[in-house]
Amino acid sequence: MAVLEPTQEDKQRQEELSKEFLAIKDELRRTKRQLAMVMDLNKCIGCQLCSMACKNTWTKKEGREYMWWNTVNTMPGKGTPKDFEKSGGGYKVLFEGRVREPIRGKLPTRKEFGDLWTFNHDEILNTKWGQVTLSAKNSDGTTPEWSMNWDEDQGAVGINYPNSFFFYLPRICNHCTYPPCIDACPRHAIYKREEDGIVLIDQDRCKGYRFCLEACPYKKIYFNFEKLTSQKCIFCYPRIEKGVANACVRQCTGRVRFVDYLDNEQGPIYQLVKKWKVALPLFPKFGTEPNVYYVPPLAPPRLDDTGKIDTSKPRIPLRYLVDLFGPEVEQSLKLLQQEMQRTRDGEKSELMEILIAKRWEKMFGPFNKDPMNSMYT
Ligand code: SF4
Ligand code: SF4
Repeated sequence: MAVLEPTQEDKQRQEELSKEFLAIKDELRRTKRQLAMVMDLNKCIGCQLCSMACKNTWTKKEGREYMWWNTVNTMPGKGTPKDFEKSGGGYKVLFEGRVREPIRGKLPTRKEFGDLWTFNHDEILNTKWGQVTLSAKNSDGTTPEWSMNWDEDQGAVGINYPNSFFFYLPRICNHCTYPPCIDACPRHAIYKREEDGIVLIDQDRCKGYRFCLEACPYKKIYFNFEKLTSQKCIFCYPRIEKGVANACVRQCTGRVRFVDYLDNEQGPIYQLVKKWKVALPLFPKFGTEPNVYYVPPLAPPRLDDTGKIDTSKPRIPLRYLVDLFGPEVEQSLKLLQQEMQRTRDGEKSELMEILIAKRWEKMFGPFNKDPMNSMYT
C-alpha cells in the first residue's frame, strides 16, 4: 500500500501545532517570583530528620509509602535512585541558554529507588531463638538490593586512606527554572506556580505516562503504583501559603536549610546565592537552573605520607566538587576559607554570621510563623 506523503497543508498544521505546544510549555514555566532553598553542606550531620519530617507530613500513605521526597545520601555514593546522576535527562544548553535541547533519560525502576520492604517479624517471633535472622523483602518477594541511603558512609571506605572523606547531600525536587519534567509531559499536567515558582503535578491531569521521570535528570519524581500518577516534593506549599517554612527546613537539626524568595535582597538566599555567590546549584551541567543551592563542603587538611599536615592540596579533590557544583566551586571554597580565617583573627564576617545562623528565624525569610499556631488553628 502506498504511503501518503503529508501535503503542504498538513505540514503547515503540524508546524502550527508544535508552536502552540511550545507556547503552552512557556506559559507553564512562567513565574513572577521564585522560591529557593540553600543547604549548607558543612553543617549537615546526616541525621535524616528532614527525611522523616517529610515522610510524616506527605508520604506515609496512599501508595506513597515507598517514596522519599527528601533524601540524604552519603557522598561519594550512588544516591537515590541508584546512580541517578548517570540516568540522563535534562538539557544540552546551546547558544548561551537561548536553546535547550532535551536529553533522553532513563526511567528508574522501583528497586533502584528502594521498594517498600516487609520484614519477617512473625517468622522470628514464632521460631526458636537463633534459628531465623531478620530479613527484608521487596513487594514482589525478592531481596532488596538498594534503598534510600543504602551505601551510608561507605563512600569513604578504603578510598584515599588516610585522606578519606565523605559528606552528606540532602536532596529535594529543585523546582527548576527550566524544568524538563514540564517539557516532557504531553498532558501539560506539570506547571510552575506563577506566584512562587513551585513545580507541581496536577493529579487530575496526570495519566501516569512517566515521561517526566525520564526527563528529570535529578530523578526526583516517583510513580504512585496505587493511584497511577507521578508524584514529588511540593515544596510544602500549604505551609508556605501560611507563612510556615517547609517541614524539612523547620525540622533540620543542623540549621542547614535556608528558605526565601530569590529576589528578596535582605533575605538569606539572595545574600548567599547572588551577593556572596557562595551557594551553588547541584549539577549545573544538566541545564535546568535548579532553585536549590548548596554551600560546598570543606574538609580537614590532608595528611602526607609521614602523617604530617599537607596544605598543598585539598582533602576532597577539587575535580570531584567541580563535577558536582560546577567550576565556581573553587572560588566559593576560597571565600569560605578566607571568611573563616577572618573570624579566627577576631574580625567580624557578615558571611559567617549568615551561615552560623545564631537566630534561626533569620534563615526562613518571611516563612517564620510557628506551625502550631498557623497550620492547625
Ligand atoms: S528537579 Fe526534576 S522534578 Fe523537580 S522541577 Fe527539576 S526536573 Fe522537574
Ligand atoms: S535534618 Fe538537617 S542535618 Fe539532619 S540530615 Fe537533614 S539536612 Fe542534614
